[in-house]
Amino acid sequence: CGIVGFTGAQSAAPLLLDGLKKLEYRGYDSAGIAVMDGQKITVSKVTGRIANLCEKTRDGADVPGSTGIGHTRWATHGAPTEENAHPHLSNDGRFAVVHNGIIENYMQLRDELIRDGYHFESETDTEVIVHLIEMYYRGNMRKALLKTTNRLQGSYALGVICSEEPGKIYAVREASPLILGVGIGENYFASDVTALVNHTRNVIYLEDGEFAELSCETIKIFDCTGQEIRKKVTRILWDV
Ligand code: GLU
Repeated sequence: CGIVGFTGAQSAAPLLLDGLKKLEYRGYDSAGIAVMDGQKITVSKVTGRIANLCEKTRDGADVPGSTGIGHTRWATHGAPTEENAHPHLSNDGRFAVVHNGIIENYMQLRDELIRDGYHFESETDTEVIVHLIEMYYRGNMRKALLKTTNRLQGSYALGVICSEEPGKIYAVREASPLILGVGIGENYFASDVTALVNHTRNVIYLEDGEFAELSCETIKIFDCTGQEIRKKVTRILWDV
């Protein structure tokens, strides 16, 4: 029941694993990370503890790259298995998605996507999101995310990476918390500030309907119409 994202110059996996450990207190049944190194996305998932994920990936060494997303899952749709753990990949392997929340109209979307030839690997409500993104992506993630979220009913904090958008992580929020962490030469997002404060105390709170594109040097934020907006950076002064 948490998400994290990182883009910067360092290896992403150890930072994502560390962020997920900070979110453990919220409870979860499985966990996973997806990292990309230039072109290819590598995914690793486990049931049970983050410690299992650290072991499986040799503390992240087996998941190379400096751009990635991570998830702790509290299953709502589909048993707590490795297949149902996030991140979920698109059929073409170009997109990976992590999700907190519930997609209420997933059954209808799933039927439609199956009719259109998409293949499902899990029983989650989440997996419709990654197939919708693949379907709508025509070289512009901002447009693909807008079209996708227009189809979704329910609550979601999403983290997305795309192998054709190197160095970029995307964060989308609707009725589920999501915070951007502003670093120096690196940027983060997380569902909870506890996962960020070891790295930065400068944060931006996303509101419902807003989404963000982060690279190591830039943060662009858009409203629900796709218009770029400016948001203030808040300094966290309290102890977390
Ligand atoms: N509804 C999604 C699932 O069951 C996400 C659950 C969560 O927020 O961890 O996979």
